[in-house]
Amino acid sequence: MDYEAVIGLEVHAELSTRTKMFCACTVTDPAKSEPNSAVCPVCLGLPGTLPVINRQAVELGLRVALALGCTPLPRSIFARKNYFYPDLPKGYQISQYETPLAVNGKFTIRTVAGEKVIRIRRVHLEEDTGKLTHITQPQAYSLVDLNRAGVPLLEIVSEPDLCNPAEARAYAVKLQQLLRAIEASSADMEKGQIRFEANISLRPRGSQLLGTRTEIKNLNSFRSMERAITYEMQRQQEVLLSGGLVEQQTVGWNEDTGVTFPQRGKEEAHDYRYFPDPDLPPLVVDSAWLDRIRREMPDLPEERIRQFQQKYSVPLELAEQILADPWLEQFFLGCTSDILLAEETARWLIGPLAGELNARGIGWEANPLAPTNMADLLARLQTGSINQPMAKQLLKWMLDTGKNPEEIIAREGMVQVSDVDSLKTTIQAVLHAHPAEVSAYRKGKVSLAQWFFGQVMADTRGQADPKIVKMLLDELLTALMGGQLSD
Ligand SMILES: [Zn+2]
Repeated sequence: MDYEAVIGLEVHAELSTRTKMFCACTVTDPAKSEPNSAVCPVCLGLPGTLPVINRQAVELGLRVALALGCTPLPRSIFARKNYFYPDLPKGYQISQYETPLAVNGKFTIRTVAGEKVIRIRRVHLEEDTGKLTHITQPQAYSLVDLNRAGVPLLEIVSEPDLCNPAEARAYAVKLQQLLRAIEASSADMEKGQIRFEANISLRPRGSQLLGTRTEIKNLNSFRSMERAITYEMQRQQEVLLSGGLVEQQTVGWNEDTGVTFPQRGKEEAHDYRYFPDPDLPPLVVDSAWLDRIRREMPDLPEERIRQFQQKYSVPLELAEQILADPWLEQFFLGCTSDILLAEETARWLIGPLAGELNARGIGWEANPLAPTNMADLLARLQTGSINQPMAKQLLKWMLDTGKNPEEIIAREGMVQVSDVDSLKTTIQAVLHAHPAEVSAYRKGKVSLAQWFFGQVMADTRGQADPKIVKMLLDELLTALMGGQLSD
C-alpha cells in the first residue's frame, strides 16, 4: 500500500511588543534578564488582579492576519484554557478559542513542483507560559522563571495542505520571513520566539479520507521540524503496514535520539474547559482601525525582493537569500558601495563568507566583520591586486584576527604575482621537479595539466595570477609535446 502524508502546522510567534499581553511588564531578552525580574501581580496570577489587552499586540496580530489574507473578525473573544502546569501560575492560559482574531487566509509557498497555496485556518492571540529549567545533578529539581509568562503570542494555524517535510519547511521559512518583514516578530529560533507544532496523518494515496493524526509538540528549529515529521511519517507507515492502528496522541521530539515519544493520549478541546474570560471584554475591531493598519503595513517580502532585485540587478535567488536574514541584509548594504559590484558582493556573502561563519558556528547576527573591510577585500579582488584563492585566505585571516585587509596584506606580503618572467621560471621549475608526471603527460595523460597548475599555485602560495599561469603553462606544455622543452 502506498501512503501519502497530510500535514498541518501550528506556528507560535512571540510578537515584538514592548510589554506583555495583559499587563505592563516589559518583555525582556531571556538571555540578559534576571529570572523573575519582569513580573507583576497580573502575570503572576495573584487573586484580585485584572488583565488589560495590549493594543500593540492586537495591531501586530492584525498586521500578520492581513498579510496572510485572513478576514479579521469584528468581535473576537478571549477565553480561559484551563490546565495545570508549574510554568502557568494562573492555572489557565488566556487564548482565543471559538472566535479568533482572524480566519480563512492563504499563503503561497514555492515547492519543487511549483507554487502552492496553503490555506490558513485561523490566527489568534494568546499569552506565553513561563520557562522551566530541569536540574538533574546532584539533586533533581526544577526552576521556574516567569519573565516569559504573559508575553504576547500569535498562533497561526494552517489547514492540512502540506504533503511532505520539505513543504512544511518551505512554509515555515517563508512565514518567518514574513513575520520579520512586517516587523511583527523577530522570530528568532535561538530565543524561542518562533516554535512549531505539526499534525501528521497518513492515508492511502489518492484517498479523500483523513487518517488518525498525531501532533508533534515544541519543535524549535526548521531542522528539528523536518526531521521529526520525517520520523513520524515513517513510524506511522510501519504501524499501518503491519496492520496496526495509529493512536491519536500528542508526541514529543527527542533531538538527540531522533525519535518521537508519546506524551499525552487523545486530547480534546473539552478537556480544557474553555470558557470566555469574564475579566476581558470582547475585542472589537472596526474597519477604520483595519484601514490604518493596512496603510501602515511595511512592504511584504515579495515586494521587497522585487525592489531589491531591481535596484541591484541581481538574480531572484540571490535577492531572496540576502533578504532572508535581516543581519545579512544589513551587512550587504554596508559593504555595497559600488552598485556594479552588487552581484559579486552578494555571491561572496552567501558563498565564502557564509561558509567561514558556518564553520566557526557564528550566525549573521554575530558576524564580526566590519562591512568596510569586506568591501575593501572585494575592491582589491576587482582591481586584480589579489586573486580568488588569496581573497579567500585573506577572509579567513580577517575573521581570525579582526584585522583589516591592509594590515594583513602588509604582514603576510600578499601580492598577486603577474610578472611573466618570474612565473615562467616557477613553472619550469615545477616541470623539472616532476619528470615522471612530465613523461606521463607526454604519453597522453593530458589531465595532468590541471595538476601542474595546482603545483604552481601552491609553490606561489596561491599568489600567482591564475590567468597568466594558465596561459604560460599551456604554452610550455604545448612546447613539451613538440619535444621543445629546454633542459
Ligand atoms: Zn506582569
